[in-house]
Amino acid sequence: MNQNPPCPVCKEACSLLDVVDLNKSCEEARGKFLGLSGIPVYYALCGKCGFCFAPEMANWKLQEFEEKIYNDDYVAVDPDYIDVRPRGNAANLIAMFGDRALAIRHLDYGGGAGLLSDILKQSKWQSVSYDPFVDKDIRIEQLGKFDLITAFEVFEHVPDVHELMSNLYSLLSPNGLVLFSTLVSDGNIQPGQRISWWYASPRNGHISLFSKNSLAVLAQQYRVNFGSFSAGFHVFFTGVPAWADHLIRQG
Ligand SMILES: [Zn+2]
Repeated sequence: MNQNPPCPVCKEACSLLDVVDLNKSCEEARGKFLGLSGIPVYYALCGKCGFCFAPEMANWKLQEFEEKIYNDDYVAVDPDYIDVRPRGNAANLIAMFGDRALAIRHLDYGGGAGLLSDILKQSKWQSVSYDPFVDKDIRIEQLGKFDLITAFEVFEHVPDVHELMSNLYSLLSPNGLVLFSTLVSDGNIQPGQRISWWYASPRNGHISLFSKNSLAVLAQQYRVNFGSFSAGFHVFFTGVPAWADHLIRQG
């Protein structure tokens, strides 16, 4: 394998940082160990922007992800993804925007089976769910433009960050925002140190690990503004519409 793969974010030549077993999962943080698969997964780290990624897995085809990651056993390593997380995220969005969001178009990008959107629609939101892994027959151009896009636990899963960014950009209205969650690696991944971070888990499909700086670099490349509310919750925005003013000022 290439020991100096180019950084998918900033194109700088990277170094391999560590190798972990494919079965390393986020549930190990809760004491659950799946045993070893015998399949090594290398992570490379960009010394310039801090992006950390699994170059070989990033080249997998969709089918390979379906067979090895997003299979029937996936729920065991991410028990919250079917119900708990969409419900929690929907409640947070409703609390965040209240009635301000009723007039805008919302897209939940990477929304799986669409539960988050369904809950928001019950609260009179105009919400659509789209997941590239689920809605394979839908072309992204068919969806239209959205004032608010949410992408919960999406960024760390994508093999191609530029495909994600250009998809989001093409879906975003000229005065809109993308609210997204992904845990940044700042303080958790360091050059010259083995990976011990629970979030760097190939079995969960966590193959793109962003530093805060690498998110800022992406924002610059796509000419969008960037802000973080916390280590795990961020925003890209093309404008500050009145309905989001309270949020952006706080971020
Ligand atoms: Zn980089």
